[in-house]
Amino acid sequence: MEKDYLFFCNHCGLPQVIPNFIVKTYFLNRFVKGFYCKNCNDFNAIGNLTREMIARNL
Ligand SMILES: [Zn+2]
Repeated sequence: MEKDYLFFCNHCGLPQVIPNFIVKTYFLNRFVKGFYCKNCNDFNAIGNLTREMIARNL
């Protein structure tokens, strides 16, 4: 069962649902440093810890 991921913006705190395939394709790629919030357009970094957590839950 493919599950989507919920991320909270570090700036405005708004939760965002990120589809499973986006997480797998982009978030696990080491060249991708983060994502832009859909609400405030601010940048949220994806740390190695987050990456590890995602990889563990795949
Ligand atoms: Zn935001």
